[in-house]
Amino acid sequence: MSNTIEKDEVKNSLNFLEQIIEDDIKSGKISKHIQTRFPPEPNGYLHIGHAKSICLNFGLAKKYNGKCNLRFDDTNPVTEDVEYVDSIKEDVRWLGFDWGNNEFYASDYFDKIYEFAVKLIKDGKAYVCDMTAEEVSNTRGTPTIPGQFSPFRNRTIDENLNLFERMKNGEFPDGAKTLRAKVDMASPNMQLRDPVMYRIKHAHHHKTGNKWCIYPMYDFAHGQSDSIEGITHSICTLEFEVHRPLYDWYIKQLDIFPSHQYEFARLNMTYTVMSKRKLLELVKGNHVNGWDDPRMPTISGMRRRGYTAEAIRNFADRIGIAKRENVIDIALLEFFVREHLNKITPRMMTVINPVKVVITNYPENQTEYLDGKNNPDDESMGTRKVPFSRELYIEADDFMEIPEKKFFRLAPGNEVRLRYAYFIKCNEIVKDENGTIKEIRCTYDPESKGGKSPDGRKVQGTLHWVSAPHAITAEARLYDRLFMSENPEDAEEGKSFVDNMNPNSLEIRNCYVEPELANLKVGEKVQFERVGYFNVDKDSTDKTLVFNRTVTLKDNWAKISGKK
Ligand code: ATP
Ligand code: MG
Repeated sequence: MSNTIEKDEVKNSLNFLEQIIEDDIKSGKISKHIQTRFPPEPNGYLHIGHAKSICLNFGLAKKYNGKCNLRFDDTNPVTEDVEYVDSIKEDVRWLGFDWGNNEFYASDYFDKIYEFAVKLIKDGKAYVCDMTAEEVSNTRGTPTIPGQFSPFRNRTIDENLNLFERMKNGEFPDGAKTLRAKVDMASPNMQLRDPVMYRIKHAHHHKTGNKWCIYPMYDFAHGQSDSIEGITHSICTLEFEVHRPLYDWYIKQLDIFPSHQYEFARLNMTYTVMSKRKLLELVKGNHVNGWDDPRMPTISGMRRRGYTAEAIRNFADRIGIAKRENVIDIALLEFFVREHLNKITPRMMTVINPVKVVITNYPENQTEYLDGKNNPDDESMGTRKVPFSRELYIEADDFMEIPEKKFFRLAPGNEVRLRYAYFIKCNEIVKDENGTIKEIRCTYDPESKGGKSPDGRKVQGTLHWVSAPHAITAEARLYDRLFMSENPEDAEEGKSFVDNMNPNSLEIRNCYVEPELANLKVGEKVQFERVGYFNVDKDSTDKTLVFNRTVTLKDNWAKISGKK
């Protein structure tokens, strides 16, 4: 009895695809090993939704000792480019997955797919149609009204073979003819109403050059490519569910490997658009600075911003797979980023919004090197020397001339701790002629070295700081959500998602960082104490370090930046 319960529990913890795979393995349906694939169309950079699909396909292959192919579905020469192929490979690799030698292109199969088409013509299952795209669409009917037969539907097999060959040979202009499958013009499934299999497109292809001027439609290339590769579990998003009967029809007519398609709900995220077409519009319209702009939901943007592959994999794992459309809160992704960065980054001190503090009883021209812990939660990350001197910077928001209730940081007459350094007390404020605070004059308690209380007296605030003469000036790029509304695509009448962009999604600040940070390289990550997690940007030069704020420390940022 208890045994069955345990078994059921294990079963229930599997997602529906794992369940199907385990059943297929058990029933002997899988003869060798399971074979999955990630099939991007190289018409843009990958986004976080693709990351979900990559983790799923490569993850299942790994879990069940199978294989996962990387296959480029490159059937549309007009929108595709090698730049995209290269970026896709880089992103999949960066996410931590390896396709070994299994890198394929639908275009590798163009000869084979052409043969498949010829076979369907020979079997009387496909015909060349001279209708324009508009005529085809006007005669398709509606889900409840059957479509009309094409006047070319009854062409003889010989005539079809002849015309199809001439299409291939370039005798006709774009759009003059198509090859259509002869399925069922009355099917309630519109996909089955004599769908187009091939179209004429006199276009250069990034792999096959000018060899072809006819190209298979996605629906005639995708399923056939899966069969050619022996894909046992062809996993895709829900919108392809209605295409499955057509894929199955082709497999049956052609009598080829019975690849089976399974659908899951695509990842949608709040404050994010997730379609390559829309992301391309942001890039082309210069609304962002390229595909890898750190505000973009692309894998390359997230990498540049400082997200880690591990955080993205953990996120993908945690959201699991659903069969119904849903929207994931972007805060969940940020949670996983924070969780990982908290473990791996050293904590350093940086002042983003500075005000000067002068320690009046500290000797001029003296520097002390104090011990700073790189990660107080993880001793193994060691310590560093932090210079301390008479003049320092602290965050302007850590001081209030007239403190509000429960303000425990620096204020006239109030004592606070400077992290790793000393207790200081504010005695005087110096202002310029406009009334702006120029410096805060304090005294320190030499007995409180290391920030330890000399006599048991307590202070409530601990501030981060940077020694002014030792500080390095750097640029901090502070990012906010790229869109102002949770669902950017839900734009008002006559407006587009672009109108929902947040005009304040990037704020650039000069900041002071402790000297230790000068050694960081592009891509290296650090926590600025009390401010957030940052990543060194590729725009850094020998003279100036540029930091991207990857993610805030919970909601501390609101306090420190003064943003509410
Ligand atoms: P987009 O709409 O962004 O252009 P796409 O589906 O056209 O996406 P493809 O290159 O065809 O882009 O996608 C490759 C694979 O990634 C497909 O199997 C697709 O189902 C999957 N995929 C795309 N977007 C998502 C998403 N948001 N969530 C999960 N999987 C996705
Ligand atoms: Mg697609």
